Amino acid sequence: MSTSKSAQQPVSRAMFDDVMVPNYNPAKMIPVRGEGSRVWDQADTEYVDFAGGIAVNCLGHCHPAMVSALTEQGNKLWHLSNVFTNEPAIRLAKKLTDATFAERVYFANSGAEANEAALKLARRWALDNHGEQKQQIIAFTKGFHGRTFFTVTVGGQPAYSEGFGPKPGGIEHVAYNDLEALEKLMSEKTCAVMMEPLQGEGGIISPDQEFVKGVRELCDKHHALLIFDEVQTGFGRTGSLYAYEQLGVTPDILTTAKALGGGFPIGAMLTTATIASHLKPGTHGSTYGGNPLACAVAEAVFDVVNTEEVLTGVKQRESLFKKLLNDINDRHNVFKDIRGQGLLLGAELNDTWAGKARDFLNAGADEGVMVLIAGPNVIRFAPSLIIPEQDVIEGLARFERAVAKLAG
Ligand SMILES: *Cc1c(COP(=O)(O)O)cnc(C)c1O
Repeated sequence: MSTSKSAQQPVSRAMFDDVMVPNYNPAKMIPVRGEGSRVWDQADTEYVDFAGGIAVNCLGHCHPAMVSALTEQGNKLWHLSNVFTNEPAIRLAKKLTDATFAERVYFANSGAEANEAALKLARRWALDNHGEQKQQIIAFTKGFHGRTFFTVTVGGQPAYSEGFGPKPGGIEHVAYNDLEALEKLMSEKTCAVMMEPLQGEGGIISPDQEFVKGVRELCDKHHALLIFDEVQTGFGRTGSLYAYEQLGVTPDILTTAKALGGGFPIGAMLTTATIASHLKPGTHGSTYGGNPLACAVAEAVFDVVNTEEVLTGVKQRESLFKKLLNDINDRHNVFKDIRGQGLLLGAELNDTWAGKARDFLNAGADEGVMVLIAGPNVIRFAPSLIIPEQDVIEGLARFERAVAKLAG
């Protein structure tokens, strides 16, 4: 086949700048292969992966359960549209509803789309039940909810939503963990409060227990919906299937994506039957949402992740990670805080290194370890939930060499 030959023509990072829209600035090397928590680039240089595709690859690279689900479904049925339903979608929805507070599922293809659906549902629910004046959406400074115009406006970083013309209205922000400010802003006009149960992109910031409880109470008092964006915290990331389970607070709507597909694009919005009833036929939709390939892979991921063994393993790896990061800090004094939950961890740089998180990311890559950042001051770790202990140790040894190069 002549086409496969042309597809194999060598490509280089330099070509990226010639053919791609410049909204990303990817690393200089191009990864070509992954297995478990290791990745190899074009030059066959090997990396330990603590980035996990930004908290996506919850079972590492090419997990056999995922590969077999994908190939099996790939030989059966790829796509139908929502004119028909399909077996993998129904099976996955059944598993998600059995395992959570939710009774109904809407499938999308990304986190932003799941959040877009959640926000539209909340607005429609409020309109149907309370009338037009109830449309205020409150979210939190530094929060992140995706890049569609509605979700990016609900997100708490104006830099991301400005410069695109008039924004969707009725959206306001208060500081995370500031219950008093939220209380002042809320009224019967509040339609929904959207929050991450641990801010990821914003810097790995946990909510206070009383804050979350207070948000729930204020939503109940003002007949507003509480939306948990668990796109990053969900699917085992914090050591329970969803983070809300450990907070003792149940949302009305929950969104999930990233780890849900383990690397295959899929998102979902979960809610109760009563709230879901406001999305009647025709009110919202997606060509690909609930695609059989995506759902078959996500179902395989669910079966592995939602087990005592994996969820307990996340907590064990969290302890190991935190201990080794503290050891690194004892020797090099670069962090002022090591925090986070499960395998969504952040190390905040101290004042000497403030603003330099990207230097640590780059130095790590040079030593053969992939890490993430969360803002200019926080190095973020979101590895596979089943990363072998040996890879944690080896990856952090490489990271320490990077730290030593920078900090001496
Ligand atoms: C990544 C992320 C999103 C956006 O997900 P996409 O799949 O990139 O659209 C939304 N919310 C949170 C909390 C995220 O971390």
